[in-house]
Amino acid sequence: MPSGWHTQDPASSEGLPLKKGAKALLEAYYRGGHLPSPMGGFLDPLRVRTESDGSGTVLFECSASSLRYELRVPKASRDEKAAVKAAQEADEPVVCPRCEPARRLRRAGTHLVCPRCGVRYGKPS
Ligand SMILES: [Zn+2]
Repeated sequence: MPSGWHTQDPASSEGLPLKKGAKALLEAYYRGGHLPSPMGGFLDPLRVRTESDGSGTVLFECSASSLRYELRVPKASRDEKAAVKAAQEADEPVVCPRCEPARRLRRAGTHLVCPRCGVRYGKPS
């Protein structure tokens, strides 16, 4: 962990923030759908990262303009973390509560993160 306190803003930004209609874009992303780009065309996911506060960021490239955009993925709610913990305790597959089809969470250091949305949901059991 780097020293110092991090606010919600990512330390580094590689793309233009997608704020307008972000909720609909997120829903489409969780379902694996095509995301329309503000410049026309579609947004192709390039990379997913987990922020220090447990939220995710997805970097996209617009298929029409080659501009890069970033979509912020809200961090896990208390209910989502509880669902992940319950699955761990029941020895069931530990999957992302948001992404469809279900994605198995991956171990990243001392955390469990979704490889698709980048959100941190708990700790490996
Ligand atoms: Zn996910």
